[in-house]
Amino acid sequence: MKTSHRYDRQSILPEIGETGQNRISTASVLCVGAGGLGCPALLYLAAAGIGHIGIIDFDTVDETNLQRQVLFTVDQIGQNKSEAAKERLSALNPDIEIQSYTEELTDKNAPEFFNQYDIIIDGTDNFATKFLINDVAVKTGKPFIYGSILGFDGQLAVFNHNNGPCYRCLFPEAPKGHIQNCAEAGVIGAVAGMVGTAQAMEALKLIINHKSLKPLTGKLWTIDMHSMENKTLSLSKNPECLMCSKSKDNIILQYSSPVCGLVSEMTAEQAQKNKMALLIDVRELKEWQSGHIEGARHIALSNLMQGHTPDLPTECEIILYCQKGPRGQQAAQILKGHGYLNINNMAGGYEAWLCCV
Ligand SMILES: [Zn+2]
Repeated sequence: MKTSHRYDRQSILPEIGETGQNRISTASVLCVGAGGLGCPALLYLAAAGIGHIGIIDFDTVDETNLQRQVLFTVDQIGQNKSEAAKERLSALNPDIEIQSYTEELTDKNAPEFFNQYDIIIDGTDNFATKFLINDVAVKTGKPFIYGSILGFDGQLAVFNHNNGPCYRCLFPEAPKGHIQNCAEAGVIGAVAGMVGTAQAMEALKLIINHKSLKPLTGKLWTIDMHSMENKTLSLSKNPECLMCSKSKDNIILQYSSPVCGLVSEMTAEQAQKNKMALLIDVRELKEWQSGHIEGARHIALSNLMQGHTPDLPTECEIILYCQKGPRGQQAAQILKGHGYLNINNMAGGYEAWLCCV
């Protein structure tokens, strides 16, 4: 039988050795999203010989993805991303098992997927799915490697590992700007590449589990690639966390679709007819002061992004508006993350409202 030298360069490391390599080849990792973060993470995980890799992505390869989603080629445009990724990774390493899932991750299917893997990688670019990943990871007892990119900024953390904090423990302190909007946020491929690669490294550290390796459990690493200045912040577990302070059986998954833009939209005309709904103006204070819809409540998007949790009635319908529409969408995603499900965004915002008064 031919002996493979595929892993010689890593198994020679004293931190890995034969034991570490065996751990790698028997480990399983599920990557949620084969996008800017998932592609580099998956490349390094497959190359390192992770025995069982799962890829979940319902989206298809688009021309605009090629700038950063380095697994894909021009020939694969139009193909499902999880299948296209599997094709590429199988060519790279035919010795490992790769499973592709072409459906959307939901609160219904996620527990079953997560139960089949040791570690979850968050390769998503939207706030709602990160919450879903967190909540299901807590419920199923799996560590998840969080990654986030926006412009030149990258963030990385290992949540729900060794009794460390979960993503919901962090959220109240989340710095402005870590929330992504996949429709609007620009990104440089290399930034995604760096964070995705670091996610693969953190997964490998958990798997190899050598005493010299210190995963980012309870820590948030941030980097600004304008200057390469980086910081590692210590995170503490919130004893009153809505998710990880509960027993697993008491965790109820509440979730709405993660796709950007799927917060339901309402026209200004429909909003004006809906007399029972609560209108919330998410613009900044100065904009609110210069004019707003009578009877509306003011909660600035910037406050929501900084972790301010508003106390809103759950029994009535909520309609959010900003000046033109997109900030309302972002705010809606955040509020959905807090469990408010009856949320609509008013298309066209305050300007559209004024037009049809
Ligand atoms: Zn928590």
